[in-house]
Amino acid sequence: MTVRVRFAPSPTGYLHIGGARTALYNYLYAKATGGTFVLRIEDTDLERSKAEYEKLQIDDLKWLGLLHDEGPDKPNPKYAPYRQSERTEIYQKHAQELVDKDLAYYDFCTEEELDAMKEKAAAEGRDPVYEGKWKDPAFHQEALDRIAKGEKPAIRFRAPKKSYTLNDKVKGSVTYPENMVGDFVIVRSNGQPVYNFCCVVDDYLMEITHVIRGEDHLNNTVRQLMIYEALGAKIPEFAHVSLLIGHDRQKLSKRHGATSVNLYRSEHYLPEAMCNYLCLLGWSHPTEKDIFDKQDIVEVFSLDRFSASSAMYDLEKFKWVNSEHIKKMDNASLILLIEQEPETEFFRKQSPEWKNACVELLKRYAQFITDFPKLVNELILNDDPEITDPLKEILSWDTTPQILAFIAEETGKVTSEFISEAELNGWMEHVKKIMGVKGKPLFQGVRAALTGHDHGPDLKFLIPLTPVRVLKNRVAHLNK
Ligand code: GLU
Repeated sequence: MTVRVRFAPSPTGYLHIGGARTALYNYLYAKATGGTFVLRIEDTDLERSKAEYEKLQIDDLKWLGLLHDEGPDKPNPKYAPYRQSERTEIYQKHAQELVDKDLAYYDFCTEEELDAMKEKAAAEGRDPVYEGKWKDPAFHQEALDRIAKGEKPAIRFRAPKKSYTLNDKVKGSVTYPENMVGDFVIVRSNGQPVYNFCCVVDDYLMEITHVIRGEDHLNNTVRQLMIYEALGAKIPEFAHVSLLIGHDRQKLSKRHGATSVNLYRSEHYLPEAMCNYLCLLGWSHPTEKDIFDKQDIVEVFSLDRFSASSAMYDLEKFKWVNSEHIKKMDNASLILLIEQEPETEFFRKQSPEWKNACVELLKRYAQFITDFPKLVNELILNDDPEITDPLKEILSWDTTPQILAFIAEETGKVTSEFISEAELNGWMEHVKKIMGVKGKPLFQGVRAALTGHDHGPDLKFLIPLTPVRVLKNRVAHLNK
């Protein structure tokens, strides 16, 4: 069996991180099994669906690298079209077939009649079920006569009187008791089919083998199982992945902060880090490792490593995952990303060797790409360092003024833009051997003189990256 999975977003807003996670799991499963990843646009809610949201969501999926094999822009003629709004006739035809088999019926009940059924049920303390007369096949002819006169009925599905059991890949065995749902509308009187019906017709006709989606759809599944059965369709495997929750254990929503992919994108998170973090929210690596690329997990991705309990969305962990991806990224790619950032003129003007050494040094301090320009400013270009208490202490040592004077003199002699590591070593040797300063007073004193800080990256990497004019200004500033 060739695996066919789908991601079926409704284009009613931006791509949400929960949606992105669902898309990721489907993508990974398709890649892991050599299957096909289908993108279907569920735009049956014509009022809320917008073409621009479809575009933005696809754009975010592309940014995440979750490229679909089939979809509106990559149609396979066997299954197209891929937008539900373009498939209305297909749904109507299948609904009609169910009516013809008496598995569904025309329903002319008015809103008032339906409301009255609900009120009666509420008064009797039970869930509302459809009790209209149209349920009775004896009224089928009357319905046909009214249709012949131009009236438009809804089509209502006859819910079988039996229980259903779903063997969900994540939730295990889920039983829906008999009478859990009453007869339900599959096509509204305005000809508009409803989500549960469209979804099943599409999954059936698009030959979807596995439905991987959020647990919030578990309640819909019973209606969907009924429709599969009525259509005589093979039921796909289901995997309902756990909900994302915030620190307060409530379902993740806007009040927990940024929930749309595009916000993280605008905050310069790395797409690979986002995929990595989203994957961890409800799925675990067989070796329990936390940091990986999509390509690494394709080989080990399976549906039996999902966690059935809710996954807590933790922004701090996400940031950490991002920083780990920065550390493992190759320098050339990092340089390209950094150069796209604003305020990187100085960085961009430097030699390839300088850039490589700079990125190699700073990547262990950066959580985001945007941190690089900040770190360059702070550690390499700042020539007016703040005189902090620890720095004051170093400046108060007897040995420090001689070191400052020596560094001022030496930097004054340099005519090149940067000094080499060998030159720095020469200065250190001089302070140690000729001036007789050793240990902490040597290292801290030289660090203070050259950087204006009491701590920071290894001098032998940092100082050759720092323009000599900055070193001169720093030492002058400290000598004041
Ligand atoms: N359009 C549905 C949603 O956005 C997807 C339903 C499904 O995956 O079956 O929630």
